[in-house]
Amino acid sequence: MIDARGIPTCECPNCGDNLFRALVSFDPETYTIGMYHLDIQCHSCGTLATAPTPMDNPEADTEDKNKGEKF
Ligand SMILES: [Zn+2]
Repeated sequence: MIDARGIPTCECPNCGDNLFRALVSFDPETYTIGMYHLDIQCHSCGTLATAPTPMDNPEADTEDKNKGEKF
């Protein structure tokens, strides 16, 4: 298991899987994920990683990047 935290990613930097374990809370109105912790762990190999946020998307509109808040 390696510690690859620091750079937000959608894929495990070690094995490439895209399933992670994360602490989440659910929005009682929408029943979707309302909040998630940025410390995540690859479900396959256990590598520690940093969860991405919409602001981390290089394809995102730069105007939107200035609106959000980091958790
Ligand atoms: Zn992995």
